[in-house]
Amino acid sequence: MKIGIVGCGQVGSSIAYACVLRGIGTEMMLVDANHTLAAAQAEDISHATPFAKSMPITSGTYADLHGCGIVIISAGVNQKPSETRLDLLKRNADVFSEIIPLILAAAPESILLIATNPVDIMTHMAAKISAKIRNCPGKVIGSGTILDTARFRTLLAKHLKVSSHSVHAHVLGEHGDSEVLNWSGANISNIGMAEFSERTGILTTVAIRQQIDEGVRRAAYRIIQGKGATWHGIGAGMARIAQAIVEDEHSVVTCCAPLVSVEGIADITLSIPHIISAQGALQSVYPTLDEAERSALEASAKILKDVQNSINV
Ligand code: NAD
Repeated sequence: MKIGIVGCGQVGSSIAYACVLRGIGTEMMLVDANHTLAAAQAEDISHATPFAKSMPITSGTYADLHGCGIVIISAGVNQKPSETRLDLLKRNADVFSEIIPLILAAAPESILLIATNPVDIMTHMAAKISAKIRNCPGKVIGSGTILDTARFRTLLAKHLKVSSHSVHAHVLGEHGDSEVLNWSGANISNIGMAEFSERTGILTTVAIRQQIDEGVRRAAYRIIQGKGATWHGIGAGMARIAQAIVEDEHSVVTCCAPLVSVEGIADITLSIPHIISAQGALQSVYPTLDEAERSALEASAKILKDVQNSINV
């Protein structure tokens, strides 16, 4: 499957690189407002193909996205000094209003994967623009909390001294401050947290939970302080969603997509587990939550809905 990437800065190039290393797709087309950058990224990443999957990596215009089964959007504008987050959001909204019709004109059947922040709002907006052009529900997916979920699994695995592959735990809701760690559903290869502690003697006390919660919730802030931005985690996460589509996996992935209702909030885009196949987000799978998690998810949905309303999407 041909994969397009629109926005080839740090995040877009890391997604392309992760796809090449994981052998996802058969061809990659990079598009950026900065054509020189897109061409340079394509040339650089193509030099990794002899060590990974051999495939053409080129750069071009929107028209060159023709034939793409997936188009990944990681285009974004940076915050100007004294600009509010809402102003930034409005400028990114303008970018999406311009580029999504161009992408769909070239690749009308493509599944759109959104990484641009604030990702829940941008995915909601992309789905609304897409719905005006074509009737393909499920074909707009955002990375949502796939990255936060990876951070949760990594920290919990380190604490429990097991592989992160054996940890099943989701972060739900907003990709941001109001996200909800689904502790009540966390398990280690189907063994609940309490039982696992009993068997191994490794306790997950309230203090440790707080430490892990903080570690997940503040990860982006720490990384941005150290290196200015984050890109490798999201690069691998987006490649993982692309793989589930390309290989028609029907895998359950925590990411965001438009939902009819969440905890009483209608028409909202946020993260819960979704079944991902060649058709896109086939179905959402609502997890079992305890009372505190349900009210935290409701609060997260309300925060996102207010932002949605403020820019009228
Ligand atoms: P970057 O500035 O390095 O790259 C953005 C690229 O978008 C630039 O190359 C720019 O030229 C391009 N661009 C801007 N407007 C465009 C347009 N109209 N058409 C085509 N290209 C356009 O930024 P980055 O670090 O790569 O981050 C990209 C986005 O990803 C940001 O919104 C960032 O917040 C987001 N991000 C999301 C996650 C996540 O978990 N979803 C994680 C990290 C970053």
